[in-house]
Amino acid sequence: MTHFAANNILLRFSDKQKEAIRKTLSVPSKIVITTHYRPDGDAMGSSLGLYNYLKKKGHQVNVVVPSEYPDFLSWLPGSSDVLNYETAKEVSDTLISNAEIIFCLDYNQLNRIELMEGAVRNSKAKRILIDHHLDPEEVFDISVSYQDVSSTCELIFDFILALDDLKSIDKAIAECIYCGIMTDTNSFRYSSMKVRTHHIVAGLIEAGAENHIIHELVYDNSSEGRLRLLGHSLLNKLVILREYNTAYISLSEAELIKFDFKSGDTEGFVNVALGVSGIRLALFFSEKDGMIKISFRSKKDFSVKELSAKYFKGGGHKNASGGSSNDTMENTIKKFVEILPLYKSQLTD
Ligand code: 5GP
Ligand code: MN
Repeated sequence: MTHFAANNILLRFSDKQKEAIRKTLSVPSKIVITTHYRPDGDAMGSSLGLYNYLKKKGHQVNVVVPSEYPDFLSWLPGSSDVLNYETAKEVSDTLISNAEIIFCLDYNQLNRIELMEGAVRNSKAKRILIDHHLDPEEVFDISVSYQDVSSTCELIFDFILALDDLKSIDKAIAECIYCGIMTDTNSFRYSSMKVRTHHIVAGLIEAGAENHIIHELVYDNSSEGRLRLLGHSLLNKLVILREYNTAYISLSEAELIKFDFKSGDTEGFVNVALGVSGIRLALFFSEKDGMIKISFRSKKDFSVKELSAKYFKGGGHKNASGGSSNDTMENTIKKFVEILPLYKSQLTD
């Protein structure tokens, strides 16, 4: 625990927030933890890190997610207890309406939990937000929202630190938090990965998270279909628009089916497009149930958060955001290509 002990002065959580959280958790409570649609490593890592922690503290806790999570996260401790709202609606609705506390992790607006929105909005429970996206909706009783942080998982660490309880971080909790910091920073490489975050990660390894095993479980765990789909995407579907330092990949539902697509299989494809030398803006379009989901990534100062919010009902962070379109793939791409000239100077300066 040397890294934890030496380096973890609490930077986040005001005294008021700390007091409110301490008071709220002072008696064993019925708690539901929720996270965003199509949960990723940070969404699942933060939810299960907090789940394992609160269970250890004697609370009655359930994690309910709005849609299925990728197979490469199924090793996370506690994942077999997670309820998927799409397949367990009735029991989830009961848990949400009976909850005394609902945690909202890794999302800032209740519409990010899709079909669960109504249930969470109508619940009498105290709602606690812990998140790192801009502009949180004003529906939370306690709102812990910081953007200058690697991940929601880092905020879960801060949450346990705020409760002065780092000694409770065991192997299971450490593995969950490690997973979210690792995936949201693309293996510790983004600028959000501060010195303090590296110390936290070192402490998590000291607490039992086996770094090489977690990397292997997440990154060396692809199905054959996923890798062949990546091959197809790069060989046949990658479009490079040099004039705008932009690259994109699009995949139709038929293509996904052909390669036996499973949830999470296209995770990271957009980063491969961004990895082409000189590219500053990369997009990944995929079709599901007649809807187009778009992932945006950028380098330097170009804000995909603004682009996705303005034209594609989206949001996220400056260099990584998402959005969607109800139009056809062809028209969605056409719309994007038509707006690109507006950003030419920002993309080529
Ligand atoms: P991804 O491209 O990996 O799905 O998402 C990248 C980032 O954008 C994540 O922080 C995610 O929370 C956010 N994001 C993805 N899709 C949407 C969306 O439809 N709306 C908003 N507001 N944010 C999104
Ligand atoms: Mn996140």
